[in-house]
Amino acid sequence: MAGEPQEDCLFCNIIAGKIPADVVRETDTTLAFRDINPQAPTHILVIPKAHYKNAAELAAEAPQLAADVLAETRGVAEGESLESYRTVFNTGSGAGQTVWHAHAHVLGGRGLNWPPG
Ligand code: IMP
Repeated sequence: MAGEPQEDCLFCNIIAGKIPADVVRETDTTLAFRDINPQAPTHILVIPKAHYKNAAELAAEAPQLAADVLAETRGVAEGESLESYRTVFNTGSGAGQTVWHAHAHVLGGRGLNWPPG
């Protein structure tokens, strides 16, 4: 059920402390940790602690929590002293989503091309 922890979800297991992560920020509702396969000098994921399969489901079912995630992307950027950065929500396999727990990528520390691939 949306919002409930899923036993087979990688990010739910990181939240539960069962899988280690390089955590950089935490609030009551969100967790931010470094991506295991960074695509930029700074590459941090911000996730809601409650399980929603992607940003679309999160926005529809828990809009305040979606706002919390977005606010934390700003916090991450400030914490990393990023003047320019990109916030990405891959939604659906065709857009590159591989982990089915909503997450924002925060990428920075290098020039970023537009449009993305
Ligand atoms: P997606 O492709 O948008 O779903 O992003 C999933 C991200 O999770 C990818 O950038 C992966 O490198 C990252 N990732 C996968 N497993 C781990 C992990 O155990 N710790 C941190 N990041 C992970």
